[in-house]
This record gives sequence, structure tokens and C-alpha cells, in this order.
Amino acid sequence: MTLQYQSTRNQNNRVTASQAVLQGLAVDGGLYVPTQIPKIDLDFDLLAKLSYQELALKLLHPFFDDYTKEELTHCINSAYDTKFDTEEIAPLKKVGNEYFLELFHGSTIAFKDMALSILPYLMTTAAKKNKVDNEIVILTATSGDTGKAAMAGFADVPGTSIIVFYPKDGVSKIQERQMTTQEGANTHVVAIEGNFDSAQTNVKKMFNNSKLREKLLGHHKQFSSANSMNIGRLFPQVVYYIYAYVQLVKQAEIKSGDTINFSVPTGNFGNILAAYYAKQLGLPINKLICASNENHVLTDFFNSGTYDKNRDFFVTSSPSMDILISSNLERLIFHLSGDDDQKTTDLMHDLETKGVYQLTDTMKANLQDFAAEFATQVETSAQIAETFKNHHYIVDPHTAVAENVYHKYQQQTADNTPTVIVSTASAYKFPRIVVEAINGKAQIDDPELVDVLHQLSDIPLPNAVQGLFTAEVRHKTVVHENQMQEIVETILNLES
Ligand SMILES: *Cc1c(COP(=O)(O)O)cnc(C)c1O
Repeated sequence: MTLQYQSTRNQNNRVTASQAVLQGLAVDGGLYVPTQIPKIDLDFDLLAKLSYQELALKLLHPFFDDYTKEELTHCINSAYDTKFDTEEIAPLKKVGNEYFLELFHGSTIAFKDMALSILPYLMTTAAKKNKVDNEIVILTATSGDTGKAAMAGFADVPGTSIIVFYPKDGVSKIQERQMTTQEGANTHVVAIEGNFDSAQTNVKKMFNNSKLREKLLGHHKQFSSANSMNIGRLFPQVVYYIYAYVQLVKQAEIKSGDTINFSVPTGNFGNILAAYYAKQLGLPINKLICASNENHVLTDFFNSGTYDKNRDFFVTSSPSMDILISSNLERLIFHLSGDDDQKTTDLMHDLETKGVYQLTDTMKANLQDFAAEFATQVETSAQIAETFKNHHYIVDPHTAVAENVYHKYQQQTADNTPTVIVSTASAYKFPRIVVEAINGKAQIDDPELVDVLHQLSDIPLPNAVQGLFTAEVRHKTVVHENQMQEIVETILNLES
């Protein structure tokens, strides 16, 4: 039997894994979720013998079960290769009494590489399987890291093109530079005057616009998504949670069966949702600690049961988490409601019309898998400085948020369960924040800041940063958030 995926907003809208990957988003506005959680035998002592790639095959095949083993093996081996600067792919580092799961060893030095290295292979394989010969147009909103990682994956992949929208004043200099220097004839980058939420909302609108969809089909094109709304991005993220646990067993830090916590710096709720699915698969997780920055709509949600996006938006030092509408929360809402598509539709409708929704008491009672807190920018910088001072280990601002929130959680609960801090970006992506946190105000520019960071840390300069400041800027388009569809039609030559 093939695993079915259904829309969170319509249980009759059902597709296979490869069809869900191709579509990205359900046309009814919902997100695809598996109709049941596959049963996988998690014998951690056996899993400890597997490489990252072998573990990925074991865990992903049940989720992508209309792919053949050979197809999936090809996708996995093409994704997790020497693009990563370590054979371990996702090393687990012990620092003091804490564990950091380093997810930034891929080509764009952010955790988005973990899933976006494989998504293009899953997508082109899905197109072949489903005999789709339209050009797949990847339409993506980015809070800074998805854009580059997705383009790195899709650049010059035959049969695809990619358009990325990022908030013009809402990403770090390095993040922007990484995107605007992207090569590949099929890559397009557009800065928008607006924040990530408007970019994401307008991208979703284009997906749900049936007229636009028709127009694209007339030109032998169709949209798909590289955001974590796509199951092809979400489920590959389950692998590293189980991998982390297995590493802890292997390094004799825990015994097989012990529970652990994960502290996850959260924005669009994709990463932590993957951990939630890992728990559903049987990974012994005590708490999933949802860490936010000053845009702490999720902290308030977990602590009150009310989601309220009507609040000021802050541009912070952890820009990839500057989000007020966390898309993937819809999937959790769906599961909290007992997989009730009508209830989910109603709550998402409240969010769209009023900007706020409230969980029922039963749904609220199902939140106990999670704990939530936030860190201010001052606390984030102080955390970077403290971790460096105590351990000579440099964390990026997103990871610092997760570390700081973990400390708060531990003070509040005295929970001594071993905790893995999910480390989502290399410090080299945010050299100003990191260097200034450690050394105080710096009157120098990014290229010099990178050198200072290099001297401070023992971390070799990643390829992603070398040559970045001398590379040609190829993408310069800036539009207002209301002009996103217009620019898409121009880029794709849909007027003719
Ligand atoms: C995207 C991102 C996050 C947030 O992850 P979500 O899956 O959107 O919750 C955190 N840190 C970094 C560095 C990111 O790029």
C-alpha cells in the first residue's frame, strides 16, 4: 500500500508522496500531511552502524514510498556528498555539558542545506515518475537562508527554474550577497519592499490563483515550492534528529531508550516540526523546546493557546526567525485537532481574516510535547560572548537564541534531561553580530569582519564565504510587495 498524503484543509484531497513533492502546496491552501505515520523499527544500536546516507534511506523510504529504493538511493547519494565539508554530514559536538547538532556543513552554511540538497533530486525524479514535462517553476519566499540553499540546489537543473523573493532590509549582508551573486541561467532573485511574511503570503496567493495556474500551463510551466511547506523538505529533516540521538548512544552519552530534549531556533516551524514527527516515529524525546527571538508569536502561542500575529514586527540579529506567520504550524494544528480538516480550515480562516485564533481546551492539552521561550537581541549577543568565553566555541545568533532559551527552560523547570541544541547556521553568515558580541562595536566592513572571525575561531573559512565579496552581483531587481505576481509574469514571459 502506498502512503497517502492529504491536505490539512481537505481530507479528500489525497496524493502520493511524489505528487505532493511536485505540487509543494495543496491547491486548497492547505499543506500535505501523511494520513498515517509509517512504522519504522528504531533499534538504535543497529542504527548506530549506519552512515548518514544509509540512515536517510531507511527513514525516508517509508515517507516517500512511491519512489523506488534505487531512485531514493540516487537522490540521497547525490545530495549528501562532498558538498558537505564533513563525512558525518551533521556532526554532534559536546561543548561543556551541552550538545550542538551542527547542521551548517553544507554548501551555503545554513541548515537549509540539509533538505534543499535533496529536494531538487526528489522533485526531478517525481516529475519523471508522474510523466510531467512542464517546466517546474520553484517559487520561494526566504527569510535569508532558504533562498540561497534552494538556488544552489536548483541552479542549471534541466526542466526547472527558480524565483526567490527576500525582504530587502531583512537579511544579513552575507545572506544578501550570497543570493545576489547566484549563478545559473534559471535562477532569479527579487528583493521586495516588505517583510518575510508579506513575501510568503504573496507566494501562497500565487499558488492558489487558478487563473495564474492556467496561464502557466498554457506556457508548459507549473509552480512548486522549496519552502518547508513542501514535504520534500520537511521529511529529510527528520533524519538528523534520529542521527543525533544515535550519535549520543554511540558516544555513550546516553543509553538506548533514554529521553532527550531538543532546543530548536524556530521561525517557519519546519525544523521543529520534523522533530515532532521524529517523536511520532518513536524517538524518545521529552521536550521540544521552541526558541524564538523578539518576534515571539510562537512563545505566546505555546504558553497561552492563542496565536496572535497582530503585533509589531522586529528586524533582529537572527533574521531567519523574523516571522509572524509560521506556515508549518498549520500541520501541528491539524494533528492537535485529531487530524480534523474542518477545524484546521476554520482556525486558518480566523488567522487570515482576524490575524488570531484560539485552540480548544482539548487541543491545548495536546501541547505538552513542547516548551517555549524567547531571547532578546541583548541576551542573544551575551550568549554568543559567554559561550565563546567559557568554551572557545562560536555560535551564530540563531543557535545562540536556542542556547539561551534552553538555559531559561532549565532554570524554570530544573529538567536535567540531556539536551541537544540545534545549530542552524555557521557564524560566518553573521560576522558583524558575532564579532561585535565578542569584541564590542567594530568600525569595519564585512570582508574584514570575516577575517576577524577567522582569527577568533579555529574554523576554516568556508567555501561559501571565499570570493563572495569579489563575485559579480547578478540580481538587482527590487519591487514592492504588491508587484510580486507582475514580476513573476515578466520573468516567465507569460504576457505573450
Ligand atoms: C530557517 C532558519 C531557522 C528557522 O527554521 P524554521 O524551519 O523556519 O523554523 C533558524 N535558523 C536559521 C539559521 C535558519 O536559516
